[in-house]
Amino acid sequence: MGISEIKDMYEKYVLSTYTRGDICLVKGEGSRVEDSEGNRYLDFFPGWAVSGVGHRHPRVIGRIERQLERILHVSNNFYNELQPVLARKIIEHSFPGRVFFSNSGAEANEGAIKFARKYGRGERYEIITMERSFHGRTLATLTATGQEKIKEGFYPLPEGFKHVPFNDIGALKDAITDRTVAVMMEPVQGEGGINVPGRDYMRELGALCSERDILLIMDEVQTCMGRTGEMFAYRHFGVEPDAMTLAKSLGGGLPVGALVVKEKHKDVLGPGSHASTFGGSPIVCAAGLGVFEAIEEEDLLDNAVKMGNYLAGKLRELGEKFPVIEEVRGLALMIGIKMGLEDASPFVGSLASRGVLINCTQGNVLRMMPPLTVNREQIDEATQKFAEILEKM
Ligand SMILES: *Cc1c(COP(=O)(O)O)cnc(C)c1O
Repeated sequence: MGISEIKDMYEKYVLSTYTRGDICLVKGEGSRVEDSEGNRYLDFFPGWAVSGVGHRHPRVIGRIERQLERILHVSNNFYNELQPVLARKIIEHSFPGRVFFSNSGAEANEGAIKFARKYGRGERYEIITMERSFHGRTLATLTATGQEKIKEGFYPLPEGFKHVPFNDIGALKDAITDRTVAVMMEPVQGEGGINVPGRDYMRELGALCSERDILLIMDEVQTCMGRTGEMFAYRHFGVEPDAMTLAKSLGGGLPVGALVVKEKHKDVLGPGSHASTFGGSPIVCAAGLGVFEAIEEEDLLDNAVKMGNYLAGKLRELGEKFPVIEEVRGLALMIGIKMGLEDASPFVGSLASRGVLINCTQGNVLRMMPPLTVNREQIDEATQKFAEILEKM
């Protein structure tokens, strides 16, 4: 099928909740994808950061193929042989604790919100989140999200959420009341425009939460699995959360999310308090193990740091030549390019037509999150195409 036929069918049969580029991707390998018309692209925003180790990573495919021979789904009223193995991997790379598996980021965050409510025992229930945050599209997670446009049309919303400016310890202190049970935040804001908090802020925030017995919940849905050069981004800041949520690149392309709580909180969500039919099935856990294997065996954290520095360096060089680039910011391979324009989204289309896929968020922040396996030649190619467009402006 060609793109026009595919588009027609979408218009007839698929609910139009998304705006899409005029491209139908049919194949992917590493940092490259191909569309239905045979055009090839460098993918610097692979599946909204889901294909974090690249498309069809051989270790992910290998694990999935082996599991296909055994069993796809096991419900959670039985044991399966891979769920605890993936849980152990997550724990080995974070903090002693326990894992609940979900199918998406929003569902992981719903779990975290329920965890906080239970912890508050009905006496404390307020959760403080950040302006410009993003936590998902379910009713509770869109309420947690600090962006009004996502809430429009969905009122009345669940009670007990308030937003404060990111990276502002005073505002956070002022927002705390006797009802506050948790602070939920992304360690680096993704949809909010790649905002990295200060180390001092994070340290003070951590201390404040532990003094006041307030849960610190890190939404690592976008930052997890090496994106920022650490397996989990909280590790940059010298604070350990009470809980964190994972999804996006955890499954190497398959849908898997997780809520991870510290050991001391292991009984807050007890038997019967939370569940998911698909959560932690052996096929998605196999894929998750393939992602860990890829990162560990191929030194991808190291590559993320090196290539992140290389890419950010090249972009800053472009910034010296083209003042329309106001700022290049981020950590390792989570990079935002703040453009001095009201609307930078046309860059997404013009780069795509030159064979490079990226994203634009908050109107004027171009976002590049190439696979952790990306190499210098690919970065040269992508930045060259970007420079060509800037020249023509
Ligand atoms: C994408 C994202 C979510 C939502 O994840 P879904 O899998 O789309 O539900 C939540 N939090 C953050 C930080 C995200 O980037």
